[in-house]
Amino acid sequence: MMKQPFPDASPEQVDAIVHSAWKAFAAYRQTTVRQRADLLRAIASGLRGAADLLLPLASEETHLDEPRLRTEWERTLFQLNTYAAFCESGDWMDIRIDIAEPPLPDLRKMMVPLGPVAVFGASNFPFAYSTAGGDTACALAAGCPVIVKAHPAHAHTSAAVSAIIGEAVAACGLPPAVFSHVHGASFETGKALVLHPHIKAVGFTGSFEGGSSLVRLAAGRPEPIPVFAEMGSVNPVYLMPGMLEQQAEALAEALAQSMTQSGGQFCTNPGIIVATEGQALETFITALSQRISDTQPVQMLHAGIAQQFHANREKLLGAEGLEVLAVSSTVGGAGDTRPTLVAVKAQTFLSNSNLHREVFGPFSILVRCSNLLQMVEVAEGMEGQLTASLFADAAEVHSHPALLAALEQKCGRLIFNGVPTGVRVALAMHHGGPWPASSDSRFTAVGGDGIRRFARPVCYQNAPQSVLPPELKNENPLSLWRTINNELSKRVI
Ligand code: NAP
Repeated sequence: MMKQPFPDASPEQVDAIVHSAWKAFAAYRQTTVRQRADLLRAIASGLRGAADLLLPLASEETHLDEPRLRTEWERTLFQLNTYAAFCESGDWMDIRIDIAEPPLPDLRKMMVPLGPVAVFGASNFPFAYSTAGGDTACALAAGCPVIVKAHPAHAHTSAAVSAIIGEAVAACGLPPAVFSHVHGASFETGKALVLHPHIKAVGFTGSFEGGSSLVRLAAGRPEPIPVFAEMGSVNPVYLMPGMLEQQAEALAEALAQSMTQSGGQFCTNPGIIVATEGQALETFITALSQRISDTQPVQMLHAGIAQQFHANREKLLGAEGLEVLAVSSTVGGAGDTRPTLVAVKAQTFLSNSNLHREVFGPFSILVRCSNLLQMVEVAEGMEGQLTASLFADAAEVHSHPALLAALEQKCGRLIFNGVPTGVRVALAMHHGGPWPASSDSRFTAVGGDGIRRFARPVCYQNAPQSVLPPELKNENPLSLWRTINNELSKRVI
């Protein structure tokens, strides 16, 4: 049954909400890392109790099946608890203390929160990269109030999650405006948020068009602010000839699965496969084509995304030099996917940058190279990516340093003998990459280091102990790791 849309927040409502968040910031920025960690754990626990309400609601709104959503759900709870632990460690604050050596001054530096953050979630992750997702958790951990702009494609799920976050904020005795939620099916609500002078940063997960337009908007403000936009990517997969010869069938199986799971609606979907011509490649193509033609269409996240998928697919199918290798043999409805695999020669690929762009959904291009040198040229000719995968045997890994160097330059995560889908939430993860994969390649949107996006360093020079924040006081009351005179320790000064 179609759900009633929520009315868009008016400019006056946005203004009032951001003013309240700004006021709440004065109190929230003073909380300790333990208090913020308690809030994240309270949100996780509130969500855990609401699975029976939220999973069917999200499934109804996004058309993602319940097993897929349950995996995302568990990940979201794990994420909140992981961010709580990392927040509490204080590691992200990068505390540095250089004790006075007269005439040299006493210097004490740490990260402090930026201020209220506007968060935009993506339609394909209604839990993990939406209302209570990674950006919200990281901003709250850093000490920033959050205002979420609900994604219209899962507005009811977003409203229900937001109510649970509100309860957790109240249970922790924090000002209610530490977390707010606004609806906006038009871009105007989002724009009003980004342009508001009391918004100090933006977390965005979504399309290149959306992310890049918010980056431009924020840069044009009288006071420009950072936009941490995690955007689409084609996640190239490079198949070395030796590996292809040994495992053509198994590689085809793994890539078919990665290309089509959840209707191919992942930012880490493998949109480009690069390989050298030869018999092994033909065996691989036959196996992969069979799997693509056997894949059933599924209903996409929402009508707009399906429309875009079909329009982009049609546009590319009409491109010069493109060869259709396989299309799902079942034709679905207008809102469904149509899994597709095409091929193009490397020279054509390099001369047409339209072929490098993400087609969000199950659509991949196989780039045929005449030799390994051309494979390196393709790697060097690609734009920034979230990931690059290299399938190579033990000898091949070492024998092509130029390819490895080109890949490292272009991506945030370099994967050996693995598909790009599947992003582990861990401290060593990097989920980001050079433009256009993300707006700032220095930061990650997944893993504890994501908290750093919403904080900035402040150095206190010769400050009396009485005015220093607890993190910098001699007694180290929070028992945090600090770098004191170049040595990491928890010692009291
Ligand atoms: P989207 O259309 O860009 O929407 C994301 C959010 O931004 C929505 O709330 C949308 O509002 C808003 N928005 C978009 N353009 C805007 C503009 N010009 N001004 C103001 N607000 C704007 O993205 P999506 O379709 O939900 O998600 C799919 C895309 O996300 C894919 O490209 C996928 O690769 C990417 N993605 C990336 C990651 C990552 O971690 N890198 C993760 C998941 C998904 P409206 O809906 O009202 O337009």
